[in-house]
Amino acid sequence: MNKMGMKVGYLLFCFFLISSVTFGQLPEAPPSPGPDARYKADILVMVAHPDDESEIASFLAREAFDGHKRIAVTYGTCGNSGGNTVGYEQAASLCAVREIEVRRALESLGIMNVWFLGGEDTASQSPLISLETWNHGAALARAVRYVRLTQPEVIITWLPDYADGENHGDHQAASVIANEAFDLAGNPLVFPEQIAAPENYKLIGNLTEGLRPWQAKKIYFFTNARHQDWIEGQGPVYPSTTVSPSKHVPYYELGATELSYHQTQEDAGPEGREAVYKAAVNYFKHPVQFILGKSLVGGSRTGDIFDGITPGPIPYPGMPNYQPPAHEGLSIELGGPYLFYSRFWKAHGLDHIASLYPPEAGVGAGMEVSVPIIIRNDTDSAQKISLTAELPSGWKEESGSAVYPVEAHGAYPITAIFTAPDGNRPEWQEIHFNAAAGGKTVSALTLRVSNVPSGPVATLRK
Ligand SMILES: [Zn+2]
Repeated sequence: MNKMGMKVGYLLFCFFLISSVTFGQLPEAPPSPGPDARYKADILVMVAHPDDESEIASFLAREAFDGHKRIAVTYGTCGNSGGNTVGYEQAASLCAVREIEVRRALESLGIMNVWFLGGEDTASQSPLISLETWNHGAALARAVRYVRLTQPEVIITWLPDYADGENHGDHQAASVIANEAFDLAGNPLVFPEQIAAPENYKLIGNLTEGLRPWQAKKIYFFTNARHQDWIEGQGPVYPSTTVSPSKHVPYYELGATELSYHQTQEDAGPEGREAVYKAAVNYFKHPVQFILGKSLVGGSRTGDIFDGITPGPIPYPGMPNYQPPAHEGLSIELGGPYLFYSRFWKAHGLDHIASLYPPEAGVGAGMEVSVPIIIRNDTDSAQKISLTAELPSGWKEESGSAVYPVEAHGAYPITAIFTAPDGNRPEWQEIHFNAAAGGKTVSALTLRVSNVPSGPVATLRK
């Protein structure tokens, strides 16, 4: 081909290239791979320990078998401590055993999508201690990942409050993380590596995760609180004595069957699962009561948990705007979990929880209860503040009452310790705290307490 011929050929090539662009001849890309539908959940249960889900197992049976809902569960720990009623395995080995127990338990309800946040069992009564041992940030990152992976319509978790009978730090920590994940998973700036698209998802070595932000629509709570006179009307109630149309047995039987797989945590004896089932079946006849945390899609407080929910994503609403309360003069307030929750509820749009019941504590007969108190001085000069406690009859103060020097604009955290009297006094009693300076009362607060035969640690359900 001569030079003229080459030029003509080049021009023809350019013409075909331009015309293919102009006339829509681009190759068609394959469909964008969406979220993996196998992991989509209608309900994501976020709890602390294997067997926590059993508290609501009869409800889960209803939703799984007859509501045809997709359900996933996350656990803060794998249950690596506590007694083993079946074998000799403990610690990491017990964790390995209980992971399988809970997978089999949930499989009995058809629930297969189960994940763990990597925390350690922590025998505390404070969510703050459990959050520390769980490595809060790492556990939260996992929780946000599982919300984005499962894209739940509804999240169910423990009630985020400290109560007599529901003071297990792990349960509370699981709730704190679930509420944080509810508010954070839709925010593209939170753990952004999780939602960055991989460069080429079909090759290995893609270190961004390819998830999507996801805003769950509702969050509900359940509780083991010993006193529940406040709970009526706070959320939907699901009877467990109803017969399942598909399984032809009452839901409480399905719930007790689910629990029966947790043999290492129950008094299984030689009869194993059958013994666990027999011991549990009456307990499961109680209805399952929820407390509405918040809904971003309306619906009534006591209506079905899917009331107001329609398929598809909803916009991320942004974070509630939290402003810490201003303090003036000299004051005292409950510290520890009480102070944390008073801030947490405001920051997460859960203000109504503060009005469910007043600050309370349960303590075993003859045992000690610790009461964290913050003594504040929001004046411009150092102050001496006298703290005194007025106790119900039979109670004994071990420490707490004293004169505390508090620097200007400072706070002095203390832990007052009291011993409960012997005997069962389940009715409420009150401890009154009084703060005085210059001979005048400047602040006061009240904590209601009850003492019961078993100690607080013994009452913790693992
Ligand atoms: Zn538990």
